[in-house]
Amino acid sequence: MHIENTIRLDFKDVLIRPKRSTLTSRSEVDITREFKFRHSPLKYHAIPIIAANMDTTGTFEMARALGRHGMSTALCKHYSVEEYVDFFSSLEEKHTAFYSLGISDADWEKFLAVEKKAPKGAIQYLCIDVANGYTEAFVSFVKKAREACPDYVIMAGNVVTGDMAEELVLAGADIIKVGIGPGSVCTTRKMTGVGYPQLSAIIECADAAHGLSGRICADGGCTVPGDIAKAFGGGADFVMLGGMLAGHDEAAGEIVEIDGKTFKRFYGMSSKDAMDKYAGGVAKYRAAEGKSVLIPARGPVEGTVQGILGGVRSACTYVGAKRLKELTMRTTFIRTSMQTNDIFG
Ligand code: 5GP
Repeated sequence: MHIENTIRLDFKDVLIRPKRSTLTSRSEVDITREFKFRHSPLKYHAIPIIAANMDTTGTFEMARALGRHGMSTALCKHYSVEEYVDFFSSLEEKHTAFYSLGISDADWEKFLAVEKKAPKGAIQYLCIDVANGYTEAFVSFVKKAREACPDYVIMAGNVVTGDMAEELVLAGADIIKVGIGPGSVCTTRKMTGVGYPQLSAIIECADAAHGLSGRICADGGCTVPGDIAKAFGGGADFVMLGGMLAGHDEAAGEIVEIDGKTFKRFYGMSSKDAMDKYAGGVAKYRAAEGKSVLIPARGPVEGTVQGILGGVRSACTYVGAKRLKELTMRTTFIRTSMQTNDIFG
């Protein structure tokens, strides 16, 4: 047994210190990013905020809505081959939708089938997603995917430490997905005791991946636009959102009426609800590591998107970053014991 005494931090533990700036308006801030990748020859130029590949948020409708704002979506892996083919056939060339898959043979076969039928070059981004990215089987799968798809941008995760971020970059991943346990409907930390404070995971994985020209995507734990700004400030190249986008019209999920109010169901991909839906129930040897919640219906995602983009732009203005690219360099975190004044709720 070993105890590490260095304090690791979450979004709630810090604020970003304001800095002198020559910017006069947040409209001057450019929050798009241009990325080259270690493996893929493709160039990404968009707003690096991605809807999570959960079946509630990684919908075609979300991809279209966010795409209009220059944002990305990691599609959920549960559509049929025909549905993916239709969707990718309908997209314009400059889209940034990720095709997501796990590491089962069935997922791989399905991907090959979609790729064969979709217009050539329509799929450019892959998201290889498992709850625990620390297994040899996962690393081997990333290697296999890289060999089969030399030109694709491959995002892979999830991990939370620099050593594994490096290993995955070397195995063929362009973007490392970072986060174990911070998600809004995740119960991994309760069920297993495993996890890592998300801001420190971002800082440490970014440091490791950037040294190898890898990128990282901070996945999970953002509850307000300020958390997204902190993730970027900590070194995230991309930020992935589940709960912040859930409950909107473009998100999937059963609609429930209670006392005249409309709610939308949102559940973790390892919750009992998800396993009942896709795996015929929770297998005897495992426990659910996600929960199911009802969120008041939130209407079109448009308003939330505006809040998110406005918040990130404003964060850049406060620290004098003309471009999102400069935010990390301009960020000094200060540790706090209080974030907000909640006297009025
Ligand atoms: P959020 O933005 O809602 O805080 O976090 C979204 C992320 O939570 C997802 O992208 C995914 O990594 C993670 N997640 C989704 N469902 C589950 C689940 O059932 N269990 C766990 N441990 N994590 C989940």
